[in-house]
Amino acid sequence: MKDNTLCVHHPEVSHEGFASLTVPTYRASTIVFENAEAYATRGQRGPDGYSYGMHGTPTTKTLEAHLNLLHRGVASVLVPSGQCAIAVTMLATLSPGGTVLVPETAYPPVLGFCRDFLAPLGISHRVYDPMIGADIKALMDDTVRLVWLESPGSTTMEVQDFGAIANVAHDRGALVGCDNTYASPLLFKPLEHGADFVMEALTKYFAGQSDLLLGSVTVKNTDLRLRLRNQMRMLGLGVSPDDVMLVLRGMETMGVRLARAAEVADRFARKLDKIFPEGSVLHPALPACPGHDVFIRDFAGAGGLFSVVVPEYALPRLDAALDGLCVFRIGASWGGTSSLIAPMSVKGQRNLGANFDDTIILRLSIGMEDPDDLWADIERLAKTLLPRAELRKTS
Ligand SMILES: *Cc1c(COP(=O)(O)O)cnc(C)c1O
Repeated sequence: MKDNTLCVHHPEVSHEGFASLTVPTYRASTIVFENAEAYATRGQRGPDGYSYGMHGTPTTKTLEAHLNLLHRGVASVLVPSGQCAIAVTMLATLSPGGTVLVPETAYPPVLGFCRDFLAPLGISHRVYDPMIGADIKALMDDTVRLVWLESPGSTTMEVQDFGAIANVAHDRGALVGCDNTYASPLLFKPLEHGADFVMEALTKYFAGQSDLLLGSVTVKNTDLRLRLRNQMRMLGLGVSPDDVMLVLRGMETMGVRLARAAEVADRFARKLDKIFPEGSVLHPALPACPGHDVFIRDFAGAGGLFSVVVPEYALPRLDAALDGLCVFRIGASWGGTSSLIAPMSVKGQRNLGANFDDTIILRLSIGMEDPDDLWADIERLAKTLLPRAELRKTS
């Protein structure tokens, strides 16, 4: 062979005795075949075989297998982001004339997708009170093909009665899908509570470093997987094995990161609950949280995320309070090593349960910094926000 050919064809080396603890990053668009017949019959390899890089490499299949085990599911697919996982699930379950029910506390881009993408295709959505429970029966009709859940609710943390809602949905022949990003499979396993589809934004706790975007959907049976795969094939959705490898690396420490963040978040939420006006702290482990009893019944614990409602009179001091933070960074997303604070408005988005239109809600994501430094930062924030007389109790 001449040099240019030698440059292109990689020589084989032995893998014998190479037992690494890490998963190799297998990259591919093309998959080559042993012979003409193997190529001609490649369509028969099925979703577990290899035929083209878009449909998976051993790296992506390893993460899918992890998700199957953690969620007690049958199959998983990986997509470029959490939002994409939501979109693909809805596209795989809804067709013109169909309806999806979405809690008003869902991650806001979900409602944007329903309004701006699904509605023009003739797919309707109806928004429901996350605390509706079995009364969701009243919203069911023959057009409802999918009931979506997200629990605890985005920013405001309402915990849904998953089993009650899923039972009604299945009785009426609808499928059940959910966003499990808050809990991750370590704290809640929706497939065991009636979900047909569970999506995760792997961007958050799984990856754990705020450096990539990735989403997953895990399902209970192979028919649902086929529906997802067909959507993905048509849309040309594949993921980078490099990002997948970073998630495989990140998830090895997810258990300790989540436990640490959860412990600190719980401690801070309880302290802030004594400092801020009654009912300001939104955290599912606090008895005042809507659905707290369901949370205790269904969840293995809380995550590292909670919210604090800023009293209306403190709003003029909010920017100064945020600018005075030294450890918390201001930013969206969560689940990384840096603690984040995000001022959120849910104006116009909470019409069925408690209304928060006239205020801002601070969403805190606890990271891996020293808790003493984090608490000092929070005390600074509270002192700027609340006049001395309003502080119910300083620490
Ligand atoms: C971040 C997030 C998403 C979207 O995930 P991306 O990977 O950022 O697209 C969806 N749902 C919830 C609850 C999230 O926190």
